[in-house]
Amino acid sequence: MTSRTPLTGWGRAPRSLPATRAEATDLDVVRREVAAAGRRGITARGLGRSYGDASLNAGGAVLDMTALTGTFDLREDGRLTVSAGHSLDTILRRIVPHGWWLPVVPGTRQVTVGGAIAADVHGKNHHVDGTFGAHVESLRLVVAGGDLVQVSPTVDPDLFWATVGGMGLTGVIVEATLTLHRVETSYFLVDTDRTTDVHGLLDLMDAHDDDHRYSVAWFDTATTGDRLGRAVLTAGDSAPLASLDSARVQDPLAFDAPRLGTVPFAPPFSFVNRWTARAFNELWYRKAPARRRGEVQDITAFFHPLDIVGDWNRVYGPGGFVQYQCVVPDRGSLVPIVEQIAESGHVSSLNVLKRFGEANASPLSFPTAGLTLAADFPVRRGLDRLLTDLDSLVTAAGGRLYLAKDSRTDPATLAAGYPRLDEFRSVRARVGATGVFTSDLARRLDL
Ligand SMILES: Cc1cc2nc3c(=O)[nH]c(=O)nc-3n(C[C@H](O)[C@H](O)[C@H](O)COP(=O)(O)OP(=O)(O)OC[C@H]3O[C@@H](n4cnc5c(N)ncnc54)[C@H](O)[C@@H]3O)c2cc1C
Repeated sequence: MTSRTPLTGWGRAPRSLPATRAEATDLDVVRREVAAAGRRGITARGLGRSYGDASLNAGGAVLDMTALTGTFDLREDGRLTVSAGHSLDTILRRIVPHGWWLPVVPGTRQVTVGGAIAADVHGKNHHVDGTFGAHVESLRLVVAGGDLVQVSPTVDPDLFWATVGGMGLTGVIVEATLTLHRVETSYFLVDTDRTTDVHGLLDLMDAHDDDHRYSVAWFDTATTGDRLGRAVLTAGDSAPLASLDSARVQDPLAFDAPRLGTVPFAPPFSFVNRWTARAFNELWYRKAPARRRGEVQDITAFFHPLDIVGDWNRVYGPGGFVQYQCVVPDRGSLVPIVEQIAESGHVSSLNVLKRFGEANASPLSFPTAGLTLAADFPVRRGLDRLLTDLDSLVTAAGGRLYLAKDSRTDPATLAAGYPRLDEFRSVRARVGATGVFTSDLARRLDL
C-alpha cells in the first residue's frame, strides 16, 4: 500500500514535502521498494522518534518499517532475533517476564529495532555498556538493488559498523540478533541527589558514576550565578529479588508501564514558553529529595516517565521544538555551554546531562568519551542564533552533535565533529548506497 504524505520528525519541525510512503509488510516488499527507488531515493522510517529530518525524504520514497514484525525468536542463552519493525516496548513486554532485559534502552521505548541500530542509541548505562550497536551480534540488511546481506562485527565489519549509527544510509535493516541481559526483577534501586549547581553535579558524577550501571542528571537551564545548572542526579542498578517488599515480590518481573492518556491535537500555540518552562524547572528541582538512597522504582519511573503520555510533542504547538544534543570531552567545555543557554532567555525543561564512556568502531556513532547535554527548546525567534553559537562552542571543544536529534546544523559543523566521515562515505559508495538510501538529513548535511 502506498500513499503520499507530508511527515515530520518528533520535534514537529521541519515539515517535509510529501513522500511516497509504502508499508514494509514483509521482506519481499522491502526488496521490491529498494530495487524500485527513484531519483530521490528511499528512506526507512521506524516510529519517527528522531527529532529532525533523519526519517524524512521530500519528494522521494519513505518505507514505513513498523509492520515488519514477523520474527521474534528468544533463545535460552538470551540471544534474541527480531524483525527490525518491533518496538523496544513490545520487546520488553515479551522478554522481561522471562527475566531478560535489553542491554541498552533510550529515553523512550517507542523506537524500533531498526531505528535503534541506525542511530546507535545510548541509554543511562553508556559509561558501562556502550551503545545499542555493541549488543548486536549480527544484522540482515537489504542493500541497493534489493539484495539481502548478513553482516556482523566479523563478517564485513566495515559495512556492519557503517550501518550501526549510519542513519539508514547503507541499506534497510530487516532483522537483528541481540544479546540480552539477565535480571532478577523488573525494578531498579535508585539513589537521588540534588546539587545546588552544575559544578556540584559534575563532582558527584566524577566520584560516583562508576558505582552504578545507570546514571543520568536533569539540570535547570534557567538558573544562573551560584545556582547555574542546579541539578538532580539519579543513579541506580537493576534491583535484586531480595530488595523487593512483600507486595512486589509476588510478581518480581511484572512489566507495569501504562499509557495514561494522549495529547489529542496540537494547540494553536505552544504550552511551553519561557514562563511555563521556568515554573516546571522550579517544580522539578523542588520535588526531588535532597538525598535519598536505595529507592525501588519501576520501569516507568526510572526510565520512561515521558512514555506515560502519548503524542506529548504536540504541546509545543504548530511551531514545534528542537532538541539540541551534543557531547564535549570534559567539564571545562561543558560549563560555558550551560552558561550560554542560561543567559540566552531560551528555556528548556527537558534537560539531560550524562557521562559517556568510550566510542565504538562506528564512524558515525554519536557517543564519544565525555559529557553529553540535551535540551528541548520551543522554536521561537533567536533560537537558531543561540544554537549556532552553541555549535561553535561544541566544535571548538572537539565535540559533536547527535544526528538523531538534529534538524538544523550545517555540513561544516558535522564534518568538524565526525572526522571519519570519508570512511563512512566510502563504505556507502562500495555497496552502491549513495543516492539510493538518502533522506532530508543526508541531503542537508551532504552525507
Ligand atoms: C522522548 C525521546 C527520548 C529519546 N531518548 C533517547 C536516548 O536516551 N538515547 C538515544 O540515543 N536516543 C534517544 N531518542 C532518539 C531515538 O532513540 C532515536 O531517534 C531512534 O533512532 C528513533 O527510532 P525510530 O524507530 O523512531 O526511528 P526513526 O526516527 O523513524 O528513524 C531514525 C533513523 O533510523 C533510520 N531507520 C529506521 N528504521 C530503519 C531500518 N529498519 N533500517 C535502516 N534504517 C532505519 C531512519 O532512516 C532514520 O535515519 C529519544 C527520542 C525521544 C522521542
